[in-house]
Amino acid sequence: MKAAVFHGAKDIRVEDVAAPTTLGETDVLLKPYWCGICGTDLHEYAMGPIVIPTHPHPLNGSSAPQILGHEFSAEVLEIGKKVINVRVGDRVSVMPLLYCGACYYCRRGLNHLCREMACVGLSFQWGGMAELAVVPASHMTRLPDTMSDLQGAIVEPGAVAAYGVDTAQVRPGDTVLITGAGPIGALASLYASHLGANIFISELNPTRAALARSLDVGEVLDPSKIDVAAYIKDVTQGIGVDAVIECSGNERALQTAISSVRSAGRISQTGLHTKSASIDPMILSERDITISGTWCFPVTDWPRIIDLIGRGRYPVEKVATTQISIDDVVEKGFDTLIDPTGDQIKVLVNARGAASN
Ligand SMILES: [Zn+2]
Ligand SMILES: [Zn+2]
Repeated sequence: MKAAVFHGAKDIRVEDVAAPTTLGETDVLLKPYWCGICGTDLHEYAMGPIVIPTHPHPLNGSSAPQILGHEFSAEVLEIGKKVINVRVGDRVSVMPLLYCGACYYCRRGLNHLCREMACVGLSFQWGGMAELAVVPASHMTRLPDTMSDLQGAIVEPGAVAAYGVDTAQVRPGDTVLITGAGPIGALASLYASHLGANIFISELNPTRAALARSLDVGEVLDPSKIDVAAYIKDVTQGIGVDAVIECSGNERALQTAISSVRSAGRISQTGLHTKSASIDPMILSERDITISGTWCFPVTDWPRIIDLIGRGRYPVEKVATTQISIDDVVEKGFDTLIDPTGDQIKVLVNARGAASN
């Protein structure tokens, strides 16, 4: 079968790999529909392997070369003998985190912090950028008829963004600043808007700012042109925003978050910083500010996020800027996304080879 396989930095190949031949009692054979290219995949492509194991992973023994793809929707082709939650022909979205179920965190329901965490499409035998994949049935949720296959592939980043907003305890009527309008920032603004928040988005990159504007959820500010914190103070009677969702992983944005949030406000660090950032912790003390990190999402969030999308409350498809065939995944996917002058934000890949549907 055809698959997009990571071999090393700048070495992703669309090639023929062996199709799955056996199916465990609790496993499901899937035919992926759409699969998103994620920031994590881009990091692997640019400078990996980082997350992709080069030695057998302790949870499942997988190691590179790795079939990519952890944000995907699929059709159920075949089910193991003990599978009861999905049937052949169902359309599903896959929750890709794999966990041991036995460690300190798993026993407390914090499976996304499992000490042996693995992920479909990063540290697992199968991935969503392939014609077929095998995934445990417990990791899939059926899509309602009101939801498209494409939307089903955006549940995962949708859950990441929702977790960031939820961690900042955003409530209806709150004023929220979102720093960074990449896929996660754009999704966070859609989710916070659905919660009834009044939103500001800060974004430097013109392509991302244009996408943010098209979402029509709030004012989009350019931090290279205005002092975002001063502007926000100005329009909030000198108080600041109730919460900030920091989605850029950028030092200046984190500093803007601290200057923009009101006293006793909350900052969610949802974007990943690849370098250390300097902040003044005294300000956190003096102004009673809480900064919380978020990692992935609660693994139980799929049905809730799917329900929101299915009822039109969380239009995640608005962040999808292009859909491509798996044959073009390197050139029109990875290379375009890592190009700083590129005009793409979220690229979805069709593993069956056709870019339509
Ligand atoms: Zn992802
Ligand atoms: Zn565990």
